[in-house]
Amino acid sequence: MDYDQYFSVAVDALRRERRYRTFAEIERKADRFPRATWHSPGGPRDIVVWCSNDYLGMGCHPVVIEAMRESVSKRGAGAGGTRNISGNSHEIVQLERELADLHGKDAGLVFTSGYISNETGISTIVKLIPDCVVISDELNHNSMIEGVRRGGRQKAIFRHNDLAHLEELLQAAGDRPKLLVFESVYSMDGDIAPIAAICDLAERYGAMTYLDEVHAVGMYGPRGGGVAERDGVMHRVDVIEGTLGKAFGVVGGYLTGKRVVMDAVRSYAPGFIFTTALPPAVAAAATASIRHLKNSQAERDGQRAQVAKVKAALAAAGLPQMETPTHIIPLMVGDAKACKAASDVLLAEHGIYIQPINYPTVPRGTERLRITATPHHDDKLIAQLAEALNDVWSRLDLPRVNTTVAERPLRAMAGAAPIPLPIAGG
Ligand code: PLP
Repeated sequence: MDYDQYFSVAVDALRRERRYRTFAEIERKADRFPRATWHSPGGPRDIVVWCSNDYLGMGCHPVVIEAMRESVSKRGAGAGGTRNISGNSHEIVQLERELADLHGKDAGLVFTSGYISNETGISTIVKLIPDCVVISDELNHNSMIEGVRRGGRQKAIFRHNDLAHLEELLQAAGDRPKLLVFESVYSMDGDIAPIAAICDLAERYGAMTYLDEVHAVGMYGPRGGGVAERDGVMHRVDVIEGTLGKAFGVVGGYLTGKRVVMDAVRSYAPGFIFTTALPPAVAAAATASIRHLKNSQAERDGQRAQVAKVKAALAAAGLPQMETPTHIIPLMVGDAKACKAASDVLLAEHGIYIQPINYPTVPRGTERLRITATPHHDDKLIAQLAEALNDVWSRLDLPRVNTTVAERPLRAMAGAAPIPLPIAGG
């Protein structure tokens, strides 16, 4: 039996569809962030990274590095097993307290990644609620979709941020228990959910709420608690999920909520129970980062200022950025091949790294470059970025029209159309 053929056929299909992913080999420089070395086919080259989700540069912050270094020297490198076997490290207990405090909840629960926290968290929560209907935003992240799928309950998908459609689905679910699953900042479009209005509906129709703040924690709200904190509605959301791997600069994911909910997830979630815990040093570094960002506005202010400058520079150059109210700056290309070519030319000729975003991460026809500016991208780097992008757009003859949220061809072009029925089985 030639097993290899199955895999080569699968990979060839991706190549034909121009969806085959290549990853640049990048060496970050802790003391020169966002600069890095690209191990190019022709040898090492200095580059500037413009697409990192280390949104505030906390992965290179001295306070975070020192916390990790100190913990590693005292506790060693690994966790020694699952929490079931090795117990709770002191560092994880402190981290969970810090997270509960960040979101104003009774308790926090840490997982090995944001992906796992969604997948195992959502599926466990819905399995524990008999006859639950899951009501989910159509643009939710794959980790949430997988969590809903594994939960095995009936689901209903509402059009992205569409309150009227959401209300229809809540009404259609009647008296059954309902879990409403959504994000605050949607990472590919950079738009924000109307959290307060969603909570109004959830309260009116008796739904439990689950909010992913992965692309918001650290950056929004006076203490970095996310958009729900900024909007004064954290207390109205039942479960807040987040990552330690983006603005907090480390790795890991978490849930926060009522003690009884966290205790149940801790007790039933396979993705929590059957995997080695985060190492103490990772937990210590994450705690240091969260504590720092609770008290320091400098990173948030710096990011906001630099993001505004990038948006202004792209606008001045006539480049087709999607207007967003957030730190995420998508630059629309609209074609997979052109998007990859733009990214390649930027890297090879301008030393600027921006990964192309293609299907299935975004719908076909909406391929884009997704730019993230941190407080460490100074004005000179921003000027270089705008000049480089302008050059690439001219050379590749890419479209220069701006698109707004309302004009985006997202759903029309989506590979998977939204489910039209109020309640879809599955
Ligand atoms: N939730 C959302 C909305 C995401 O975009 C991502 C990852 O990009 C995750 C969850 C997963 O988080 P992590 O990278 O910590 O696994």
